[in-house]
Order: sequence, then C-alpha cells, then structure tokens
Amino acid sequence: MTDAREVRTACPYCGVGCGVQARVAADGTVSVRGDPGHPANAGKLCSKGSALGETLGLDGRVLHPEIAGRRAAWDDALDLVARRFSETIAQHGPDSVAFYVSGQLLTEDYYVANKLMKGFIGSANIDTNSRLCMASSVAGHKRAFGEDIVPGVYADFEEADLVVLVGSNTAWCHPILYQRLLAAWAERGTRIVVIDPRRTATAAECDLHLQLKPGTDVLLFNGLLAHLAGCGAVDQAYVAAHTSGFDATLGLAVADAPSVRRVADGCDLDPADVATFYGWFASTERTVTVYSQGVNQSAHGTDKVNAILNCHLATGRIGRPGMGPFSVTGQPNAMGGREVGGLANQLAAHMGFDDPSAPERVGRFWNAPDIARRPGLKAVDMFEAVGDGRIKALWVMGTNPAVSMPDAGKVRAALKTCQFVVVSDVTRTDTSHFADVLLPAAAWGEKDGTVTNSERLISRQKSFLPMPGDVSPDWWIVSEVARRMGFAEAFDHPGPAAIFREHAALSAFENDGARLFDIGGLAGLTDAEYDALVPLHWPFPIGASAGAQRLLGDGLFPTADGRARFVAVRQEGAALPVDAAFPLVLNTGRLRDQWHTMTRTGRVPRLMANAPEPAVELNASDAAAQGIADGDLVRIDSRYGCVRAKARIGIGQRMGEAFLPMHWSGRFAANAAAGSLSAPVTDPFSGQPELKHVPVRIMREPVA
Ligand code: SF4
Repeated sequence: MTDAREVRTACPYCGVGCGVQARVAADGTVSVRGDPGHPANAGKLCSKGSALGETLGLDGRVLHPEIAGRRAAWDDALDLVARRFSETIAQHGPDSVAFYVSGQLLTEDYYVANKLMKGFIGSANIDTNSRLCMASSVAGHKRAFGEDIVPGVYADFEEADLVVLVGSNTAWCHPILYQRLLAAWAERGTRIVVIDPRRTATAAECDLHLQLKPGTDVLLFNGLLAHLAGCGAVDQAYVAAHTSGFDATLGLAVADAPSVRRVADGCDLDPADVATFYGWFASTERTVTVYSQGVNQSAHGTDKVNAILNCHLATGRIGRPGMGPFSVTGQPNAMGGREVGGLANQLAAHMGFDDPSAPERVGRFWNAPDIARRPGLKAVDMFEAVGDGRIKALWVMGTNPAVSMPDAGKVRAALKTCQFVVVSDVTRTDTSHFADVLLPAAAWGEKDGTVTNSERLISRQKSFLPMPGDVSPDWWIVSEVARRMGFAEAFDHPGPAAIFREHAALSAFENDGARLFDIGGLAGLTDAEYDALVPLHWPFPIGASAGAQRLLGDGLFPTADGRARFVAVRQEGAALPVDAAFPLVLNTGRLRDQWHTMTRTGRVPRLMANAPEPAVELNASDAAAQGIADGDLVRIDSRYGCVRAKARIGIGQRMGEAFLPMHWSGRFAANAAAGSLSAPVTDPFSGQPELKHVPVRIMREPVA
C-alpha cells in the first residue's frame, strides 16, 4: 500500500450514530475525523469518537480460537460448539441453551444469531445487553403506539422551542446530539428543562433543573397530565380522533397528583419550579421530551415511559416538526437489535409472540418448521437459569455480563458452574475467563454491516483494516456453527449484503402495512449498492425513494383500531427502599470519556486522564456524617456485594444519594464493578433491571 485511503463508516459507541471518516496511512496507522456528510453529526466527533484510531492496537485481542484456554483450529472449535449445543438440545430440549448478545453487534450479526436461536434451535432464549439499556422504552412504545416506534428525528431537537431532558445526561452520554441542542439553544432560544436527581453536566447548562427525588418521575408527569387538563391544554380533537383510554388515565393521574403542591412534596421539588415546568409545557406547542437510562433503568421504567407518552398524546404532539417523545439509546446498534427481534420477548422484524400468526409467518419465510412460539428468558432471568442449571449451554457474544449485569457476583458464579460456556469477543474480558470455548470476533474497522441509531437512521459500518490472526466476523461464526448443527441451507450466507437483503425481505414479508418497520425497498440492493449505501431512515417500503423521517404525525397508529392508547399509571414506591442498614441511594451511569467496561476506551491515556480511577460521588453532608474526606478510599456495601472506590465530594448529589460510574471492571481496578452492587430486580413489563436506586452504605476504609 503506497497511498493513504479513507473509508466512510460509523462510530461504534453511543446511539447518536455519528459518521466517521477513517484514514489509513501508508504505514498502517489510522486517523479519524467526523464525516461532514453524515446527517447525525455533520463532521463533529466527541472525545470518545475522535480517539477511535487509538483503540485499534492488538493489545488484549483474542486472535485465535481457544478450547479450555489452549489455542485451537477454527474447525475444532466450531465443531465442538455445534456438538455441545446439539447434544444439550437433544438431551434437555431447546430451552436448555441460550445466547446473550449485544448492542455492539451489527444488524447482520444480530439477524443471524436471532434466526438460529428462534428459527432453528426453536427457543427464544436470546437476549441482549440492550435489555439493560432501553427495554422499558420498547415496552412503553408498544403499550402506547402498538409498535416500538421512535416517532421523531434529531432535527426535532433543533426545531423545538422546549426540550425536556428526563433522566438523560445528554452532555456526556450523547455529546454530539447535545451540541446540536446547545446550538439551537444559542441561536433559537430553545428552552431546556433537565429532570434528573443529579446535577449533571447537562443540568449545569439549562433553563430549569428539576432535581427531583429519585424514582418520582411518574408523579411528576401524572401531575403534568392533570395540569394540562386543568388549564385547557389538552388537544380534545386529537384525543377524540386518535386515542383511547384518556378519561381513565386522567382520572388516575388526578388522583395520584391532584395539585402542584402534592407533586412538589412527593418529588421533593420547589412548587414554583414545578409550576414553571408545567406552564412551559402547556404553552409550548413545539416540545420534545427526551428520555434515556434514568427513565428506563428502573423497576418502574415502563410506567415512567408511558407517563411521558401520555402527556404527548394528550397534546397531540407526536411526530410533527419540533415535537414528540424521543427515546435516545445508549448503544450504537440497540435499535438494529430491536429491528431483527434480538430481545427474548420479540420474534423478528417487529413481529412478536403476542400475534399468534407471527411464528407461522416467520417460520414460512425462514423455512423453519420448529420456530419458537413463546417468549424466552430475559437477561436477568436468563442468568438466573444459568445459575440454577436450567440453562446448560450459553453463548455470550460481544458483551461482558460478568461485571455489567446486576448482582454480578452471582452471574460470575453462574458462569463458573455452567456446563458449557462459549464467548465470542474482540478482546479478553472478565467474562472470557469463564469460556470453555473462546472465539475471536472482528473488531470495529474490521467488520462490515449496518447499524441503526436512535432516530431510525441506518448507516453502514465498513471494514478498512485486515482481520488479524484467525479473527472472523460474528455473522460468519454463528453461520458456521448453524451449518454444523445441520442447518446448512438456511445459513448459507455469502456475506453481510446477502444477510441484509434477507432481513429487509423479511420485514416486508406478508406485511399489509400493519407494521411500520418495513425496509422491503432495500431487499433488492446489489452488493455494490449495499457497499455504497448512504444513511437512510426506516421505514423504506417497496417503492419508496427515500426513508420516512417522522412517523405517527398523521394520527394513525399500528394498533388494531388505529388509535394510540393512553396507559393509566400511578406513582409506586421504590422497589428497593433504603433502610437503617443501607441508608443511601446509589445511582450508576456513564462518564463522558469512557465506554461500557472500558475494553477500548481504557487503552487511551487521554480518555483515562479525567477519571483515572473509580470514584463514588457523595454529598458533603453524607460524607461528613461518615468522616469521609474527598479522596478517601471508601467501601460501598449493598445487600448484593461490595465495591471499593475513592470518594469524590461535590455538589452533584442530593443528600442521601451517591453516584458510581458503571465502567470499571477487574481489568482496570479490582472490586470496583458497579454491577456487583445492583439488585436483580426488574420492571414487570420490560424486564429491565433497577440500576438507579440501589440501597447502599458507604464507609471510610481504615488506612492500612
Ligand atoms: Fe461516537 Fe456517540 Fe461520540 Fe458520536 S456522540 S462520536 S456516536 S460516542
């Protein structure tokens, strides 16, 4: 190679889904810059994205298949995986095996894994780490809209007059989207309201910060619904023409939150601030409400989502320029996983087990007579089943549950006792230590496929580096195992383009327009057209010349009667209340410069510089009560485990609350994984675990 070459691809981190131009120099070094032609970021990159070129070394990579920790040939490893899965299924049935996959997978990888488990193994025991990220939004969308639809696009952030950020530290977790919002704030005077128990970087730059008591979001939005009705701000014509269930929902909201004073008391807010927020929402037609992990990662996450959606349905502010509810996803391809059905309670292509005809339809398309007919185990339940022996063979793809799952100590014990564990990943992780078979997967820059961001924009992720060692793409690894399990014909995929065409064709198969997720218009792409695919929104049905931008703005919803459904919800108490033994509420979340368990960002010194070690943030009063000074080493105990970290004392936390980043794992700091403290308590509708309200006690460690 004599000349540098540049490839247009997409960032592998957050759900903003920025376009990246990767330049490979003649000496093989890689530099990156934002793609000015990509609609999500128009050339900008955040700190993580701009450091992508520094994460590409081979340090820590899995380069060859391994069986029981020893290097093995691909054939031997694949044969063993296929044989052990087939034997387990023959002996104990299809539900005795499971896949735990990842929002880091490309859509094509996800599609093939889902097809193997649900279509040919005949179990729905495939779930994803996105369960920990946005499952409550999926469940809330389905309850209200009939389908998992994000109605808006990023441009709505710039066209709104009021943007309400709920449980979203957008400045750190979706930085480029936040920059777009800040530009609108400066140019257009957009009002920004932040609803968050923490004073985050996002809350530091807004017009109003409602620093509410953790977990009281339903009360706040029930109060808003009651206020909208009381001040005449409900769009009665829209509600009558396009929705059902308004009266019962309003009745419960009024009973729950009869006055601003009652809301302010329950949420521990200043009544004047609550009244200001309600007044702005009522009087501002162009309002976008953005919600993220602070809403989703809760034992009541789905109800919180529906409390927000109720207010947008009441005002008819859905899917029109500058208005709508907007769930932002944490991972680069959380949305792609939802599209293929990579959640245990979904089937494929937005078809679910709640539609009795869907398994037949998908089974016909796949020519799969033994297709799964009922939902499988969601993530927390899946690892419970691994631990108690119901699941005897587990394949973990591209994720690190040994530190990221709640009650992570119990998950590690489950992995240790599981009869057969396969891990396919890019690097060695805390989870790969438990692998009977370790398979080397292609990394960003080596693999090819598509991802979908939070605004339904499908982008290409492209390879620009050779795969080192024996590394192979995930779709190939899964297909090779499927072929060895006897499903050669159905998994004879020549490459990601063919898989994408099949995925697109399935989305349109026997779809009479009842489902909005339809990309049948892309099913005929040639390999060259797939390679050159420019970012486009779904839906993209047969005959379309462009993807649809906003959805649901016509008031027609993909429900049986075409109406959206109000969902009556009430404020519940904390699933895990504090007590004398564990008096503080622990919140967990992301830092600006790190990604997940730091397997990539942890290699970049400039990304480590701001927060080089795990630290728990405390309120000064709580610290003083325990004799803790800034920088002290502290021990954090919950009913599930123990973590050690430095204390950071600041103004970000309310009294009685603390915050611990989710990123640290055994690779970077022993005993610092936030997942070790969290409880396996989940939302009853979404199965998403409670990661924002964990009772803990924090004590100063004695100096040795
Ligand atoms: Fe990557 Fe998200 Fe940063 Fe964009 S905002 S560069 S997608 S991490």
